[in-house]
Amino acid sequence: MAIGTEGMDRITVRRDGEEIRLEGKILLTAGDGGVLLEARDGQLWAVTADQLAARSETPAPFESYSSAELGESLLAELPAGFQLHETAHYLICYNTSKAYASWCGSLFERLYGASDNYWTRRGFEIHEPKGPLIVLVFADQRSYESFAKRDLGDAAGSIVAYYSLQSNRVAMYDLTGSEAIRAANGRRGSLRQINAMLSRPEAAPMVATIVHEATHQIAYNSGLQKRYTDVPLWVSEGLAIYFETPDLKSQRGWRGIGQVNRPRLATFQQNLAGRAPGSLARLLSSDTQMRDVETAADAYAEAWALTFYLMRQRPEQYAAYLKMLAKKEHLVWGNGEERLREFQTHFGDIQELEADFVATMAKLR
Ligand SMILES: [Zn+2]
Repeated sequence: MAIGTEGMDRITVRRDGEEIRLEGKILLTAGDGGVLLEARDGQLWAVTADQLAARSETPAPFESYSSAELGESLLAELPAGFQLHETAHYLICYNTSKAYASWCGSLFERLYGASDNYWTRRGFEIHEPKGPLIVLVFADQRSYESFAKRDLGDAAGSIVAYYSLQSNRVAMYDLTGSEAIRAANGRRGSLRQINAMLSRPEAAPMVATIVHEATHQIAYNSGLQKRYTDVPLWVSEGLAIYFETPDLKSQRGWRGIGQVNRPRLATFQQNLAGRAPGSLARLLSSDTQMRDVETAADAYAEAWALTFYLMRQRPEQYAAYLKMLAKKEHLVWGNGEERLREFQTHFGDIQELEADFVATMAKLR
């Protein structure tokens, strides 16, 4: 495998009877000639050798799309009626009210600033995203769902927002239109009304989901994580949950980071009585429990608890572990044993750590 060099790569992809021309950076070339390309709009394309019709390189260096170029291509791609709202780090593409787009922009910028500050203080070299972070905001759940189907399939109906590793975008819908929230309050026009609606307890899980997805996007665009690499799911999800508790009343900053996540802690503690030996090793070595709908809620709680514990009790080791993961090669998938070994290299004996982890988290109130 070889890593693409300075010039901009151009490829032609033949897929499903269509011919697609793409410009970007080839991140790797597989032995059989297939490539992984990061396009100028941030999307990742895994192209097999037989889909790759042509490949060339321009002398000009790789450059991400500017906001203006991105905006133009987004508006061409989405159904008619979308508009753009730009903030320091985000390009929000919306077909709901301007006030709602501003509300999202302000929420995301606050999260971005808090996250940047959080990691910098812990010695991470965080970098600015290559281009603006794209967020799509649909006016209602129905139109969002029909768009989200292409990424989520039938799960689109039950997920209020998501981040796509492939497209590098967050997609969501205007929550103030959702029935659960609307029933309690008729008016949703101004920024203040939106904030008041979404600060209410019944909105909290939905807002947490938006923040969770935005956290994934920040992590993958600031050097903290790398897309299409073998990062254990408990790590990415634990991180996103660690950040997901928003404090909408705080105008100046983000006091939510690292607070105890009450619903996740409750789930974790309820499960302690029936906890099987070797539970931690199972979570560390495989993503299965995180992906299986039957076990996901418990596994997510455990992923949060472990992240919380490591951030508090082993911050330097955890930072070193994250840095190691961020250096992994694209599309190289390790096995469970390797994951255990990597974990052990950074944190020491797993059973010992598990005993202290369980005892510490059992006492947490
Ligand atoms: Zn997540």
